[in-house]
Amino acid sequence: MEIINRRKRMMSLARKLRREGNRTIGLVPTMGALHEGHLSLIHEARAMCDVVVVSIFVNPTQFGPTEDFASYPRDLTADAGTLAEYNVDYVFAPTVEEIYPQGFSTYVTVEGLSSELEGAARPGHFRGVATVVAILLNSVRPNFAFFGQKDAQQSIIIKQMVRDLAFDTEIVVLPIVREESGLALSSRNAYLDSQQRGAATVLNRALTAARREYDEGERNPARLIELVRTTIEAQPLARIDYVSLNDAVTLEKLEKLDDEPALLSLAVFIGKTRLIDNVVLDHSLKQDAAGA
Ligand code: AMP
Repeated sequence: MEIINRRKRMMSLARKLRREGNRTIGLVPTMGALHEGHLSLIHEARAMCDVVVVSIFVNPTQFGPTEDFASYPRDLTADAGTLAEYNVDYVFAPTVEEIYPQGFSTYVTVEGLSSELEGAARPGHFRGVATVVAILLNSVRPNFAFFGQKDAQQSIIIKQMVRDLAFDTEIVVLPIVREESGLALSSRNAYLDSQQRGAATVLNRALTAARREYDEGERNPARLIELVRTTIEAQPLARIDYVSLNDAVTLEKLEKLDDEPALLSLAVFIGKTRLIDNVVLDHSLKQDAAGA
């Protein structure tokens, strides 16, 4: 496994791999502090592709000025050890200056989709995400890039960008990996103490309760959202940022539920830590009400 720090080296390697032509390249973009959620993406990339590249880059442009860029967990040595075990071929771990050299001035904005939900709560966030993913796709030139449903809106925005800007990469989105408690794995879970970790299970409990109601025929968005809100409000350590029900493809806010899959998503503060989670309500999928 080679660790690549320079964008130039990554690009010349990508050029060589593409020229060889008979090997598919998979890219898994991450911000490191790897957990089983990341590893599920890497596992799928390993199964689908001949060459697997994992990028590790804590991207400053997707953090707001009061957010946790400085304190975001970083441990490249531990991550590299994990990735070697997973038979990853290349780790692309550039510095901020490699990605944003002096004079950098081009940003990608996916309009409309980026102003909903996380975009409304975190202005500029998706501009940073789309920009760095565009740079990563151009640097690695993968046939496939792997993203998690954990960041549902991010996956939708990246798919739109890839379509609009004609990137030659197929986007693969994989399910949310959870702890046994139901808590969705996240690098930010490291911020939680044990009491907060227990409290954080309320996110999945609330979503699962709403999904159960949906499976039993509830089609009133306001009632489903209310159920999520009251479940979370019963947990004193939790503070809701938003709970929203949107079309799972267009992210349009839903006034009523019909046959289209809907994304029930939320952001909740547990202490100072902001966590996100979601579930897709889709009557055509037989869902297991006990899990998520
Ligand atoms: P991050 O390092 O948080 O930027 O995440 C890198 C990728 O891993 C993104 O595509 C995330 O959606 C995905 N991811 C993060 N947590 C999970 C999880 N619990 N299950 C599945 N994918 C995840």
